[in-house]
Amino acid sequence: MSLYFTSLNSGSNGNCYYIGNDREAVLVDAGISCRETERRMARLGLDMGKVKAIVVSHEHVDHIRGIPVLSKKYDLPVFITEATLRHSGMQLEGRAFSAGEAIEIGDLHIQPFVKYHDAADPHSFLISCGQARVGVFTDIGRPCGELARHFSMCHAAFLETNYDTEMLDKGRYPIFLKNRIRGGHGHLSNNEALEVFLRHRTKHLSHVLLSHLSQDNNDPDLVHSLFSRHANGTEIVVAGRYAETPVFHINPSEAPLPPVHLSISQQPAILPQPANGKKKTNENRPVQTSLF
Ligand SMILES: [Zn+2]
Ligand SMILES: [Zn+2]
Repeated sequence: MSLYFTSLNSGSNGNCYYIGNDREAVLVDAGISCRETERRMARLGLDMGKVKAIVVSHEHVDHIRGIPVLSKKYDLPVFITEATLRHSGMQLEGRAFSAGEAIEIGDLHIQPFVKYHDAADPHSFLISCGQARVGVFTDIGRPCGELARHFSMCHAAFLETNYDTEMLDKGRYPIFLKNRIRGGHGHLSNNEALEVFLRHRTKHLSHVLLSHLSQDNNDPDLVHSLFSRHANGTEIVVAGRYAETPVFHINPSEAPLPPVHLSISQQPAILPQPANGKKKTNENRPVQTSLF
């Protein structure tokens, strides 16, 4: 079965990713306004009527800004962990999920897993429909075994390439912010993402959408050419900060990957912990700057 996917926006000014089949779709995060989400979907010919749910990766404002209005206007369930909702400041009735438990939306199967990021309870997602699999991997402090394992299952992936190491190093950011971005609970650099791509892709990986690029510390042409040199047949696309990408499509029925089986015993013994080793119940709300 086919999956269609697009980035409606990607970056510290707002993140919203559409993934769906012929009948139903989900938005992973809704960090641009309801009106802008509608406008961009309309330009792409996507039907808001197919969107059945919003799935939330974490509570930073660039991922949740549009949720209250969008979910209310279209009566959409919001899948969000208890800790993320508590830290978000949003007043809504969420539907809880946890890593290792799939969310089922019609024929869409959404597998959350924990990631390193400076938020209360951050998750990445692998969305499947039949054999087709698309991963959403942004806001990642550092690569981990879970990221590698899920990336290797993908036919297409939104993969964070937040910053070029040299641009961040020489840039105008204060040192505390530079350290926060590159300190293991911030964002993934171009080179870290490239290593994930080179080490864990399979021959089935047809699309990589480079995501969550920093405005100050990255250059779309630079990172596109970095990945293109190693593309080896994979389509490389930069997901922009100011516009939607085209809608992409995968239909991998002729080249199936092994089915996903996620039992407790197959999960790595060590999963990413919340930032700075804090417990998930920590009440200190992470501060999201708009500088990333
Ligand atoms: Zn973000
Ligand atoms: Zn974030």
